[in-house]
Amino acid sequence: MDLKLKGKVAVVTGGSVGIGLAVARKFAEEGMNVAIMARGAERATEEAKKIVDDYGVKAIGVACDVSKAQEIDSAVKTIMDTFGGVDVLVNNAGTGSEETVMEASDEKWQYYWDLHVMAAIRMSRALIPSMKERKGGVIIQTASICAKQPLWYEPIYNTTKAALVMFSKCLSNEVIKDNIRVVTVSPGLVLTPDWWKTAGILSEKEGITPKEYLDNIAKENAPIQRFASPEEIAEFYAFIASEKASYSVGSNYSLDGGWLRVID
Ligand code: NDP
Repeated sequence: MDLKLKGKVAVVTGGSVGIGLAVARKFAEEGMNVAIMARGAERATEEAKKIVDDYGVKAIGVACDVSKAQEIDSAVKTIMDTFGGVDVLVNNAGTGSEETVMEASDEKWQYYWDLHVMAAIRMSRALIPSMKERKGGVIIQTASICAKQPLWYEPIYNTTKAALVMFSKCLSNEVIKDNIRVVTVSPGLVLTPDWWKTAGILSEKEGITPKEYLDNIAKENAPIQRFASPEEIAEFYAFIASEKASYSVGSNYSLDGGWLRVID
């Protein structure tokens, strides 16, 4: 299927590893030019170079902590100077948390609010003018199954991801008149390097291998009984970013191997 993405420009936050990197690489495979944003400049630049080598598109790594407004401003300037405009934005940077509501500080709440919600708001505000100039665009949020079905140990993650889904819906209503589609993807278990790291530590305590630890998690939670690979999640992003998904506006798609325990 030709997704007709060739030559378009995409920005992926948290694009240097995991889901974001798989999405950036899939976009490049489809012929898109990509900017990958992450705090770590070295890894972002290295991955951008690999994308150039592997797919022959233009790609840059941009160092930016998206939880900070000033850093977003200068990163967006770099992106606009390099590409001259943007067609697709993926607000993907994020991470899990661990706390109780009664014990977590205001500062911790604020950090996750800035990372999961304000970053998406600021990135969208910064890039929508360019999408308007180009007569259209697509903005995709990476939320989580936890926005609908909370995990007990991470109330801040659950709450801020739920807020991100609502922001996405509100923005979609506002900008569809400009031919900009805003959509959310909510993954379940996706096997990123970070999961291997966690499994390496926790499996030792249980006297099992990391692979057994991960298999147990998948079997306990997802009817499909396995994790997704970042690459299979990225396929969906490419479809959503393309004109093949032209009637998809404001929706929040679960990609969770059946983990969500209600109909939706
Ligand atoms: P990873 O931890 O593998 O990668 C996170 C990426 O985000 C890295 O590129 C990291 O680079 C970047 N990042 C982290 N903090 C910031 C920041 N403040 N500013 C800019 N970039 C940042 O994440 P995943 O691929 O696992 O997750 C991606 C998204 O998917 C997240 O929003 C996560 O909540 C969501 N998700 C993941 C699931 C999973 O099972 N993996 C399931 C459901 C949702 P650097 O450290 O250099 O900044």
